[in-house]
Amino acid sequence: MTDLARTASSVYSQILDVVEGIEPRIADATRAELADQRASLKLIASENYASLPVLMTMGTWLSDKYAEGTIGHRFYAGCQNVDTVESVAAEHARELFGAEYAYVQPHSGIDANLVAYWSILAQRVESPTLERLGAKTVNDLSEEDWEQLRATFNSQRVMGMSLDAGGHLTHGFRHNISGKMFRQHSYGTDPATGLIDYDKLLADAREFRPLILVAGYSAYPRRVNFARMREIADEVGATLFVDMAHFAGLVAGKVFTGEENPVGYADVIASTTHKSLRGPRGGFVLATAEYAPSVDKGCPMVLGGPLSHIMAAKAVAFAEARQASFQTYAQKVADNAKALAEGLLKRGVNLVTGGTDNHIVLLDVGSFGLTGRQAESALLDAGIVTNRNSVPHDPNGAWYTTGVRIGTPALTTRGFGAAEFDTVAELITGVLTATAPVPTAAGAPGKARYTLADGVAARTRAAAAELLDANPLYPGLEV
Ligand code: PLP
Repeated sequence: MTDLARTASSVYSQILDVVEGIEPRIADATRAELADQRASLKLIASENYASLPVLMTMGTWLSDKYAEGTIGHRFYAGCQNVDTVESVAAEHARELFGAEYAYVQPHSGIDANLVAYWSILAQRVESPTLERLGAKTVNDLSEEDWEQLRATFNSQRVMGMSLDAGGHLTHGFRHNISGKMFRQHSYGTDPATGLIDYDKLLADAREFRPLILVAGYSAYPRRVNFARMREIADEVGATLFVDMAHFAGLVAGKVFTGEENPVGYADVIASTTHKSLRGPRGGFVLATAEYAPSVDKGCPMVLGGPLSHIMAAKAVAFAEARQASFQTYAQKVADNAKALAEGLLKRGVNLVTGGTDNHIVLLDVGSFGLTGRQAESALLDAGIVTNRNSVPHDPNGAWYTTGVRIGTPALTTRGFGAAEFDTVAELITGVLTATAPVPTAAGAPGKARYTLADGVAARTRAAAAELLDANPLYPGLEV
C-alpha cells in the first residue's frame, strides 16, 4: 500500500466514523458509492475519478469563508488566504492552457457558461451603450435608458450546436435560460456523415448574424476545427465562445493542438473541471485580455461567494494536469476511445459519425431494435454504466432516445488500455444482442421495457469484475 493510500484510508475511515455518529445514512451512502464505483464499468463520458489529493483538498474549512469579489478586492474582511488559493488556481489554469486570463470562481459548467454569456453581453452590448449615452455605469442611466438596455440584452442572437447533434442545453436550448434569454438558431451536422458542415454553418451564420457563435459539445464524437469557427465568427462579426467542458482534459494534455485547441482562437472559453480534466466538480472561464475585465465581474453578475475549498482543489487538479504524466493519460483517453470504437464497429454496432477522434463514442442502438433507454437500463443491469443520448434527428426524442453515449476518461484513469476496451466492446455488444424490447399492452413497439436473456447480466458482471480487479480504483483505500 502506498503512503498516500494509507493516509487516505485512515483519514476517510475516521471521517466516516464521525459522520456515522451524526447521520449514519450519509456514512453508509458514501461507503456504498465507493463500492458501487469500484464494481462497475463506468463509461459515462462526462465522469472521471479525481485523485485522492484533489478529493482531500475539497474537505476543508476553506469552505467556511465568504469571499465575494475578486482577488485583493473582496466584499468581506479576512480573505487573504482565499486570495492565495484563487491566485494559485488561476495561475495554474493560465499556464496549463496558455491563456491570457483565467477566472476560477464558477461553481459548475453551467455557471461558467453564464459568466461567459454575460461577459460577452457586457462587452458587446452594455459597454458601447454606456459609452453612447455618456454614462460610466448602469447606475448613471435614466430609467428609460435602463429599460432600453434591458430590451437590447434580450434581443441578442446566439448560434450553437443543436442538442440532438451533440450540443449542450446551455447552447440555446429552449428549456434552458440560454434559449430564453437569446434569440437562438442551432446548427446541426451533415446528415450523411454526422460531421459539422462548416460551409453550411457559415451560410447559416451569414443569414442569422449571431452576436455569439458557440462551439463545443456534450455528445459529438469528433474534434472541432476552431480556426474554421474563428473565420466564421469573424465573417459575421460574432464573438467566438467555446464550451470545452467535455474535452478540457484533451486540451490540457496536448492531444488537441493547433487548430483543434480553442485557446488562441476563441474570445472566451468556459469549462468544467471534473470531466476529462479529472478535477473537482466545478467550472472556470478563460478569456483574452480584451474580455478579461468583463469575465472578472462574474461575481456579482451571476455568481455569489466562491467555493474556496473547491478553488483549492481546482488548483491541485490543474497542478496535476501540468505534470507530464497527464499528457500520457490524455493521449491514452483518445487512443482508448479509438480502440473502443473499433471493437464495437467490428462487432457490427452502428456508431454516429462511424467512429471517434476524441473521448466519446456514440452508439446508435436502433439496429438492435432498442431505444437508448432500454439499452442504458440493460447495460446497467450488467454492471455497465452509460447514459442514453439523442442521435441526430432522433426518432425517439430526447427522453427515450436512440443513442447511448460512452466515453473513456474514467476507466483510463483506472488503468484500462486498448485490450481492456476491446473486451468492454465485446461485453456491450453481448448485452445489446441479448436485450429485446417488450411491446406495450396495445402491441405498439415499447420504448422503456425490455428483457435481458437469462444469465447475461451475471456473466457480464463476472467478466467486468476481472478487468476491474486488475485495475483497482483508489488501490489500498479502505473505509
Ligand atoms: N457544458 C457542457 C458541454 C457539458 O457537457 C456540461 C455538462 O454536462 C455542462 C456545460 C454543464 O456542466 P455542469 O453540470 O458542471 O453544470
